Amino acid sequence: MIPFQDLKKTNSHLSDRYVDAARRVIESGRYINGSEVASFEKELASATGSRFCIAVSTGLDALRLILRGYMALGRLRDGDEVIVPANTFIATFLAVTDCGLTAMAADVEEGSYCLDFNKLPLSPLTRAVIPVHLFGRPCWSEESVSRLRSRGILIIEDNAQALGASLHGRKTGSLGDASAISFYPAKNIGAFGDAGAVLTDDASLSETVRMLANYGSSEKYRHELCGFNCRMDELQAAMLRVKLSDLPLITERRNHSAALYSALISNPHVSLPAQPEEGSVHAWHQYVIAHPRRNELREFLLSHGVGTEIHYPVACHRQPCYQSHHLLKTAPGGLPVAENLAERILSLPIADISDDEIRTMADLINRFS
Ligand SMILES: *Cc1c(COP(=O)(O)O)cnc(C)c1O
Repeated sequence: MIPFQDLKKTNSHLSDRYVDAARRVIESGRYINGSEVASFEKELASATGSRFCIAVSTGLDALRLILRGYMALGRLRDGDEVIVPANTFIATFLAVTDCGLTAMAADVEEGSYCLDFNKLPLSPLTRAVIPVHLFGRPCWSEESVSRLRSRGILIIEDNAQALGASLHGRKTGSLGDASAISFYPAKNIGAFGDAGAVLTDDASLSETVRMLANYGSSEKYRHELCGFNCRMDELQAAMLRVKLSDLPLITERRNHSAALYSALISNPHVSLPAQPEEGSVHAWHQYVIAHPRRNELREFLLSHGVGTEIHYPVACHRQPCYQSHHLLKTAPGGLPVAENLAERILSLPIADISDDEIRTMADLINRFS
């Protein structure tokens, strides 16, 4: 049996250190807004080359806090359009519509599965673009981004899947105006529960997000903004500090596994994921292939004990919650690539698997006809 992902195995690596970290927090008597969160924020900012880091409750909240922060600062207003790639986890869309902003669903590229910067559905109402570094691949176009910025359009990275990735020496999460990270347990760096973070170089956004996440307050019992409670726990921060120290190794292992898959899969009906661009490091959160008879391939692998997943089986604009939703728009020409990919993509196991397991899976895939 090769399960798609085995979190117990993932977290067995440094288990003694997690237990020590948990004990340190329990014995400290401080469980919210203490020294573990403060240290984790410093360490994550330094690991990503960002000036400011705010540790928060979830990746979805990180995205919402960035958008609400820009709204509080007058950079975004009700009804403004935010471009979001249609092939992403639903959270990217939910953050936008929850803030009263319009999500403009955009198409993606065939090989990279990421937002297609050549087909951005720009309109006079466009105020922000959210590139998603999907599956860990840096999604960026320096040329498009500078054109967008010259029009005052904000670039907010959804870096939930790409911690550890980089482009020409700059880490994802530090490329745009602000970025959101998720530490959902199955992410490359996963917490023991929910957690997330916001990164930015913008001091006023950082201050606003920090306040919003803490009841709109920076001084006890004085509330500047109508905020939320979106804080990261000390316990999660202490555990995440242990895991963050392992990030380079985790990224290296995933790159090794992805390269081995790409070298061994030779079935002519299988499309492999695009190789990372020159000068970039992919975080390989998922290794995603495409096949015209994806469901049969998935059944075949399962019958041989191999678990797979589909990320994602339904493009976000096709989800039931967005049917005739007043804050959801789709690119005028439709989203043919995203809709077609949803029928063909298949994610293979990539977390903590051995070379032998990859050989077994590649053999099975090559035998499938
Ligand atoms: C996981 C994920 C999120 C949301 O993160 P949570 O911590 O689960 O709220 C947002 N965007 C993408 C692309 C994700 O993969």
